[in-house]
Amino acid sequence: MKYDILIKNGKVIDGSGLPGFYGDVAISNGRIVAVGRVNGEAKRVLDAEGLVVAPGIIDNHTHYDAQVIWDPLCEFSCYHGVTTVVTGNCSLGLAPAHKEDQEPLAGILSHVEAIPLEAIRAGVKWSWETVPEYLDALDQRLGINVACLIGHSAVRRYVMGEASQEREATEEEIDAMKALIREGIEAGAVGLSFERNFRHFDWDGKLAPANLATDDEILSLVSVLDELGRGVIQFGGDKEMGLKVAKASGRPVFYGNITQQAVAPNRWREQLDQAEDMLRQGYRAYQFVMPRPGDLRYTLKTAQHFDALPTWKGVMLAPLDERKKAFRDPETRAKLHKEAVATTDPPPAPRQPGEFTRRWDLQFVFKPALEKNQGLQGKSIAEIAEEQNKDVLDVFLDLALEEDLETEFERREVNSDDNAMSALLSSPYTVVGQSDGGAHVVFRTDYSYGTYLLAHWVRDKGIISLEEAIRKLSFIPASLFGMLDRGLVRPGMAADLIVFDPDTVGPLEPGESEDLPGGATRRKQLAQGFEWTLVNGEVLLEKGEHTGVYPGRVARDFV
Ligand SMILES: [Zn+2]
Repeated sequence: MKYDILIKNGKVIDGSGLPGFYGDVAISNGRIVAVGRVNGEAKRVLDAEGLVVAPGIIDNHTHYDAQVIWDPLCEFSCYHGVTTVVTGNCSLGLAPAHKEDQEPLAGILSHVEAIPLEAIRAGVKWSWETVPEYLDALDQRLGINVACLIGHSAVRRYVMGEASQEREATEEEIDAMKALIREGIEAGAVGLSFERNFRHFDWDGKLAPANLATDDEILSLVSVLDELGRGVIQFGGDKEMGLKVAKASGRPVFYGNITQQAVAPNRWREQLDQAEDMLRQGYRAYQFVMPRPGDLRYTLKTAQHFDALPTWKGVMLAPLDERKKAFRDPETRAKLHKEAVATTDPPPAPRQPGEFTRRWDLQFVFKPALEKNQGLQGKSIAEIAEEQNKDVLDVFLDLALEEDLETEFERREVNSDDNAMSALLSSPYTVVGQSDGGAHVVFRTDYSYGTYLLAHWVRDKGIISLEEAIRKLSFIPASLFGMLDRGLVRPGMAADLIVFDPDTVGPLEPGESEDLPGGATRRKQLAQGFEWTLVNGEVLLEKGEHTGVYPGRVARDFV
């Protein structure tokens, strides 16, 4: 037998969590057909000596619904080893849609998820009305696989029109929504998402349709999945609602995320205890953990997190020359000190979210501007103060002033504590993910969570093994979303594979790109260390470059 592709001499980390082993992987007709020591001919042999062969990453929470229409690779997720994305989260989606729903749905997606509206308008050619038609349209040309949830807001708008953003639904309307959800799941949508979040509105300030739903409406809609015996449910909510929906549907439910935050040091522990408790009771209600810290780099030209402190606010709003003068002035500095340096240990909790934590041990020098200060890179302000026997605020301001406010600092106050992240990432009760890929494109690059996990938490910190990290990135999401033919390197599985160097894999420094339709700018972050990325048995990327093929599918095979 002649294989299509034979990957030789790699270390196979198969996604199950079992120890990696040296072996080969043979592929034919899009599937893995043999794993182990494989001899035989192949049309193409990939030498993976020194590299790891693993299942591709399944990104379980994205907003690529619009972007995938103009960008079938879902950039920049594909460069981070992602071979399948789940779209349609948070009640949002572009199907079903009457012609007159197109602009409102685009507006809600744009506003809630911070995607430039002009990009959606310029990039999306609407060729569908129903969910089955949307899935078929996607299936024409995909680089990676897409698993679609049906967004409740789209369904509600389709049935109720403008009233979807104004009132509760009638029984007949709920029945009509149920029929649409049934039709969508039968055609291959992997589940349903809803969301009641009062910050989710359109460009006119009207709430997204899903916000107007009662508990009864939601429980009635999720019962369709119970009837069909397949699909998952995603929403943002508390554990009471998580439990209710899990009980009503009998299906896997994703209802929130656990975040370690320096401002509320014990909250993650309480949330983890709750999540573990619920799962131990036997209800499939999961919370996500994002392995990446928030993108919180700043300079004293741009920082906003001091704005809740009165003297700081005035200084940070002043033009740069005056600002520098104020930082130098001993009297002003004394006031700044009083506000920003705590006299108690630990510092009192901030009164409002986003307020400065006064944790100088969590403010790091990310990039010094001057050659002579390079030695400070990666050190916390508290650490430098101790070394230099100086006050923390003097260290911070003197360094910034010396470098003309160009010093880049980093706050590591979210998902950065080693002990917390060790507990959260290694708990069998948490699910890694929720990147929001395709959303918040001007600010965030959380689509790099997989490469960050492999580089930072596995290689640099050693808090979980490579095998366990791969399992969390592939087999677990595949299993929970019922995609039973993905997420493992085993004969019979779809050949979604990544081949990478475990010593170098990781995200690169983010930059900017003006490549959205209509010319809007977004954050761009690429990765290093990947030799090949295969989707359904074809090499999609080679050394980080698209080979020109489009082997992706709508992932319709699920239970
Ligand atoms: Zn979301």
